[in-house]
Amino acid sequence: MKTIHVSVVTPDGPVYESEVEMVSTRAQSGELGILHGHIPMVAPLQIGAVRLKKGSSTELVAVSGGFLEVRPDKVTILAKAAEIEEEIDISRAEEAKKRAEMRIQSKQDDIDFKRAELALKRAINRIEVKQHKI
Ligand code: ATP
Repeated sequence: MKTIHVSVVTPDGPVYESEVEMVSTRAQSGELGILHGHIPMVAPLQIGAVRLKKGSSTELVAVSGGFLEVRPDKVTILAKAAEIEEEIDISRAEEAKKRAEMRIQSKQDDIDFKRAELALKRAINRIEVKQHKI
């Protein structure tokens, strides 16, 4: 099976780079599965996991929104923030989750509520990726 080159890049630098058989992730328009030879496209990404299939194993990268650019032999993900499983600090994510839940429960204005909801999604995504649950 032909492979596709994947790189995940953030404003802080590269996070992941590898040849993989398939890239699966959630774009804002829905679930995407990308194999070698996919038509070129650009899509905004949701907060979620990028699943990278390599042989019998699947690696996960937690991505906090951004863009995916597909070319027939290459996928580039430009993310606001992204972490491979090994880089995720689970206690930090659990703390961020608690803070966000408290903000959501307390009656604050709409802007704070939306920010807290996004923070909660980022935290849950990191926890799920770390636990390899996705
Ligand atoms: P926190 O409130 O813990 O900072 P956050 O969701 O607000 O979480 P981001 O703004 O998305 O954090 O990310 C800021 C930087 O910290 C990024 O480089 C991101 O990769 C890193 N980061 C955030 N949370 C974690 C985590 N749990 N483990 C490892 N790196 C993290």
